[in-house]
Amino acid sequence: MKILVLNAGSSSVKYSVVETDDHSVSISGLLERIGSADARHAYRIGADNRQIDAAIADHGQALGLLFETLTASGVVNGQPLAGIGHRVVHGGEKFREPALIDAEVTRQIAETIPLAPLHNPANLSGIEAALRQMGEIPQVAVFDTAFHHTLPDYAFRYALPGQLYSEHGVRRYGFHGTSHAYVAKQAAKLLGKPLADTHLITLHLGNGASVAAIAGGVSVDTSMGMTPLEGLMMGSRCGDIDPAIAFYLARTLGMDLNAIDQLYNKASGCLGVCGENDMRAIHAKAEQGDDSAKLALAMYAYRIKKYIGAYFAVLGRVDALVFTGGIGENDAWLRQSCCADLTGLGIAVDPKLNAAPVKPTAIHPAGTPVAVLVIATNEELEIALQTADCLAKRAT
Ligand code: ADP
Repeated sequence: MKILVLNAGSSSVKYSVVETDDHSVSISGLLERIGSADARHAYRIGADNRQIDAAIADHGQALGLLFETLTASGVVNGQPLAGIGHRVVHGGEKFREPALIDAEVTRQIAETIPLAPLHNPANLSGIEAALRQMGEIPQVAVFDTAFHHTLPDYAFRYALPGQLYSEHGVRRYGFHGTSHAYVAKQAAKLLGKPLADTHLITLHLGNGASVAAIAGGVSVDTSMGMTPLEGLMMGSRCGDIDPAIAFYLARTLGMDLNAIDQLYNKASGCLGVCGENDMRAIHAKAEQGDDSAKLALAMYAYRIKKYIGAYFAVLGRVDALVFTGGIGENDAWLRQSCCADLTGLGIAVDPKLNAAPVKPTAIHPAGTPVAVLVIATNEELEIALQTADCLAKRAT
């Protein structure tokens, strides 16, 4: 099936056309700075990189441009699109699997906006624009939260009054579900085990970062919470902190909610500790002797290690640790550091195998009980596969 995967952000739309039979990508691109006169459409078709600079007023115009490109380039001639898969960040409690989009699903996605005010409105604009432009093509919403719907209540509830959960949806939802699901399937293949028998700790380490504990192929705990702020230290997000720091900041520094929100999400994490949020820049700074960059690296690795220990206890037995995301896939120092001194848990990394792994691969020494795997994530492919699956189920 030929599936168009769309990821609509507030001022960008990322897309690719994926053939689910052979996993090939015929075109992929990014429309960015939507809403401004100097917007840009950069795309790759075959081996060619192309770029068009044009004013793009809104998501509707962006998708108009995209569909023109798909037609003009011949991508949808011959074999038309079988479906469109939309990435939607938050599915709340309602969406536990991909949903075929109709007026009711659109309304329910709109209802989740208070849970993800930064992401879901943009995802919804993308859906509405695609329905207007290509309403005749079936469209599916694939949720970042859905893979984590299997968390037990004692893992997803916060120790807050029950009413906040039952009436206002205050609970852990977890994110990066598409990526955790994809690498879990790949890991089971690499291990040669059925996914349903596989226990994994998956580490998605990119600009945002999260860990998942996966028992028998299903997510049983994850580090991100009601929002993508909780858990690991990230590029510019603080991750786990004492909630009372917010009260202190308000009372002693007079910061209001918006200022604290901004601080936690945009000015903390690696950026807050050492002034850089890109991992390559942090390493470069540390190599020049900068103490704050060295501290940021040490904190980043230490927090991952704490979650590995915690999720080992959650799972009881672990077949593999899986590193993915821009940092997880490329940063040998980090993989080594967060696995250091874990031989007591049966975890070790072979320095030679770790140095420059050809993905997907194993980087643990032969004979260690827990495999350590480096697997490139592919959220676009996973969204395309889940979309095709949802459409196939509808047809039967
Ligand atoms: P996003 O969450 O935006 O998809 P990515 O998964 O692309 O992000 O990850 C981006 C992060 O990966 C950045 O911090 C970047 O520095 C880091 N990264 C990319 N390549 C390397 C590398 N070779 N070594 C260390 N970090 C890397």
